[in-house]
Amino acid sequence: MRKFPAPIHRAVAALTSFPGVGPKTALRYTFALLRMSSHQREQLAQAVLGLAQISRCGRCFAYSEEPTCTLCRDKSRTDTMLCVVSESRDISTIEATGAFKGRYFVLGGTLNPIEGQTPETLNFDKLLDRLRDEPAIKELILAFSPDVHGETTMMYLSRQLKSAERRVTRLARGLPLGADLEYADEVTLSDALTGRRDV
Ligand SMILES: [Zn+2]
Repeated sequence: MRKFPAPIHRAVAALTSFPGVGPKTALRYTFALLRMSSHQREQLAQAVLGLAQISRCGRCFAYSEEPTCTLCRDKSRTDTMLCVVSESRDISTIEATGAFKGRYFVLGGTLNPIEGQTPETLNFDKLLDRLRDEPAIKELILAFSPDVHGETTMMYLSRQLKSAERRVTRLARGLPLGADLEYADEVTLSDALTGRRDV
């Protein structure tokens, strides 16, 4: 990269920590930031700093402002169904369908040994703890993207959960193979939930 004043290099280095952002894109973003008014930049910086108030819900491990998130505290939801997802953002995707009224659990990723994601680095033990502590849970819905890592994770979970003596289901086929849950449209995802099948 060409020589720029040190603050520009620092901003570029910080921005390359985003997924898919290389030095060129980071430089473009940095120049966009320079074109903003100092007030706009201040607001952006405050928004980033405000994320420090977010931690993980102690029950479902979704991002939350409170020690227990609003979905876990919602008494109108049923405790008998637990939807296991990869990431916090998958919850909002499923919530948008309005087709699920149970509880959630965030595994914190999918199995991907090459990237260092193993059962030990995911919230797998915490899932087993939760099943032990909550006998009310009768069914686990594995709602992972049907890509290679999602499939591997669902296969592993279904095998490990055999002894948990709960019904284990997964979303119906209908989600295109390799698709990301995040980009599934609400109707397709809602159908996939309704038509879920045992694993
Ligand atoms: Zn929660």
